[in-house]
Amino acid sequence: MTNAASLGVYVHLPFCPYICPYCDFAKWPHRRSAADRYLRALEAEIDATPPRKAGTIFLGGGTPNAYDASTLASVMQRLRARFPAPGDVQPEISVEVNPELVESGDFETYRSAGVTRVSIGVQSFDPVEIATLGRRHSVDQVAAVVASARAAGIGSISIDLMFAVPGQSPGSWRRSLERAIALGVDHVSTYGLTVEEGTPYAGWRLREPGAFLDADREADLYDIAIATLESAGFEHYEISNFARPGHACAHNANYWANGQYVGLGVGAASFLDGVRRVNTRDLEGYLEAAMSGAPIPGEAERLLGTKRAGEAAMLALRTAQGVCLQAFKERYGIDFMTYYAPILANLTADGLLEIDDDRARLTRRGRFLANDACGAFVTFE
Ligand code: SF4
Repeated sequence: MTNAASLGVYVHLPFCPYICPYCDFAKWPHRRSAADRYLRALEAEIDATPPRKAGTIFLGGGTPNAYDASTLASVMQRLRARFPAPGDVQPEISVEVNPELVESGDFETYRSAGVTRVSIGVQSFDPVEIATLGRRHSVDQVAAVVASARAAGIGSISIDLMFAVPGQSPGSWRRSLERAIALGVDHVSTYGLTVEEGTPYAGWRLREPGAFLDADREADLYDIAIATLESAGFEHYEISNFARPGHACAHNANYWANGQYVGLGVGAASFLDGVRRVNTRDLEGYLEAAMSGAPIPGEAERLLGTKRAGEAAMLALRTAQGVCLQAFKERYGIDFMTYYAPILANLTADGLLEIDDDRARLTRRGRFLANDACGAFVTFE
């Protein structure tokens, strides 16, 4: 049993074999010397962080498996010693992997280190879309990676897919979804492409706006994802996430439940004792501070009262359960229906939100427009 309500630990491993043209994450091209230095800094940060019990650990990136499997296993062991699971809880330990970098025996090494879940960055099974996204895996490679994770005893296998890719059609999107389902994975995350300023994709969109899908076509693709995955037995448990029964990601569920988490590594975010803190995205600044034992530079904000409640509402509405009105009142001391009445009136009038006796949930249209729909709760005073 994993425990979604307990602390989660996120570790950012920011190196990638190459940089995808749409990416806005904290990431750098993989260089052996930089990766070794980063590992030492990360170990120092782990050792300097007060120990706590944690129900979930998540190694994300970047591309965690730009490091070899034995290195990742030693990071996991260090983390498990610093953040042991509470009581007899079986911790959920996840690793993101790039399928191109998986080597024979990797999953056995991960499994021995306690990994229970892998998330495979696939994005598409269509060779043209894979090339458009600047990725280099083959369809057969992904199938082999899923099979070897399963053979090694990894209990939960997830695939990331992307929609609204330039050139993508409803048919090619449906085929990618069906391919993931046919591989027998337990979990699928579907993300709409976001063009971030400063990326090569932003320049492409400026030169050729017609190559990118408009909101209506993107909404159609989102609907196809919901219909295809739900009819295959996946539960749409969060805006972007679908799981077979028992395979929802406990680590992310803890975020959406406004739970506490520790973030380690460059650019990683923490939320502890009401304070949200984000480590600097400046790699050199991070390395120097961590190696010298100084506090990691970054930004911190205390979330109190209505600010914390607004954040919690925004996160809860991302999930299929939505906001439980009674639990919200007990936890935040705020009557959801009364306090947020002006926002609720607008959202229900626009068909984005539905409210029954004890819950508020986004409609299907509201889920597609979730950032607009939920953002209002965060800024409401
Ligand atoms: S692999 Fe992920 S983190 Fe790395 S460049 Fe591509 S999208 Fe960004």
